[in-house]
Amino acid sequence: MTIKSYTCQCCIAGGGPAGLMLGYLLSRAGVDVIILEKHADFLRDFRGDTIHPSTLEVMHELGLLEQFLQLPHQRAETFNVFLGGQKVQMMSFSHLPVKCKFVAMMPQWDFLNFLAAQGKAYSGFQVLMSTEATDLIREGDRVTGLTAISEGASISVKAPLVVAADGRSSVLRDKSGLKVRELGAPIDVLWFRVPRLPSDGDEMGVSMRPGELLVRLNRADYWQSAYIIPKGGLDEIKQQGLASFRQRVARAMNFDVERVACLATWDDVKLLNVAVNRLDTWYKKGFLAIGDAAHAMSPAGGVGVNLAIQDAVVTANHLHAVLRENQRISTTTLASIQKRRLWPTRLLQSMQVGAHKTIIEEALTASPDDPDFVPTPIKIMQRFPFLQRLPARVVGLGVRMEHVAPAIRSVSHT
Ligand SMILES: Cc1cc2nc3c(=O)[nH]c(=O)nc-3n(C[C@H](O)[C@H](O)[C@H](O)COP(=O)(O)OP(=O)(O)OC[C@H]3O[C@@H](n4cnc5c(N)ncnc54)[C@H](O)[C@@H]3O)c2cc1C
Repeated sequence: MTIKSYTCQCCIAGGGPAGLMLGYLLSRAGVDVIILEKHADFLRDFRGDTIHPSTLEVMHELGLLEQFLQLPHQRAETFNVFLGGQKVQMMSFSHLPVKCKFVAMMPQWDFLNFLAAQGKAYSGFQVLMSTEATDLIREGDRVTGLTAISEGASISVKAPLVVAADGRSSVLRDKSGLKVRELGAPIDVLWFRVPRLPSDGDEMGVSMRPGELLVRLNRADYWQSAYIIPKGGLDEIKQQGLASFRQRVARAMNFDVERVACLATWDDVKLLNVAVNRLDTWYKKGFLAIGDAAHAMSPAGGVGVNLAIQDAVVTANHLHAVLRENQRISTTTLASIQKRRLWPTRLLQSMQVGAHKTIIEEALTASPDDPDFVPTPIKIMQRFPFLQRLPARVVGLGVRMEHVAPAIRSVSHT
């Protein structure tokens, strides 16, 4: 039995980057928004921790950048591949035509807490934590709201627009019946922390050896580390034992094995399933999916958060006036949002699938006896360094950088 009901002009399921940014932008434009987040806080790990130059540009356009950059972060101006002892620079963000020519490395919970705190300045911004969307409410063929469980109680939220921003395992996407196209990902990721010493330097990048790939992200006193394995390969690694895994990690990071003693049990190593997929159609009457709910991204290139933010910006730009004025949202408008975001998404997903097949699979299947192992795309980059500009642009800005509409920008952020 539903015990509490809410109404608003836009209900968003999911307090991740897509949902919180959309909620912030709409409420800043005067729309009544309710965001549902199933967890009690934003303090979860295993999410993208990269705030890219285009997202920083959005913060700048909103007048939030200075305050945002006061949060602890590290600046990554380049991205490198470490091949044994050799460093190959793959990207430099220094030439990008934006205010911040770097990726801000920041735990995602700090970013989300920041957006949620900024949203409180607007009366239309409401976040219901510990509230899990469970189903869509329909009237005829139109979605008119959703049901949810909030701290054990059933609730309903009625709204002319429901946005699924509930990530790649989206419940609302399933309930909508929209068709998902699986593009496949041949990898999974093992995610763990390794202590960082000042003498390590601060450069983030990928350590690559035949059969081994490890990404390390600088989080001040530790390296957030992602060890890439073939899909479904964890059981085999576990069978070889934790001591053997510690040795692999130490070798990949060029550390003494004592440094990775922090991996005391398998509980210190989290398995993250990688998926790449997207909806053929992102909307129905009264319903829209954005971010990973519309297109799950691989961690390759670390572009998922960026894409989710850009989806939110386009959605807010197209819909803030219609929602605020209580006009009916046509599927033509929703289709125009999908149209604008589809080709950047398709291109980035193709690049991720291409990177899985070339760089990643080439590295994971290379013979350990091959002393000259260098994946082909890296050889090309070594030979023609000016080509670094292309991945830096795509990773840093995406393939179509979106700007916040002047009508939203011009509202003071108090
Ligand atoms: C291993 C791994 C590493 C990655 N690393 C990076 C990286 O370094 N940089 C990068 O840019 N991207 C990275 N990505 C991709 C990135 O995490 C996603 O693309 C991005 O988080 C998508 O944002 P989102 O808001 O659409 O979804 P999410 O970040 O998944 O947020 C969805 C939110 O909805 C909530 N939720 C889920 N179900 C419900 C429900 N039923 N009701 C209410 N709330 C719900 C969730 O708790 C969550 O807070 C990585 C992905 C993986 C798998």
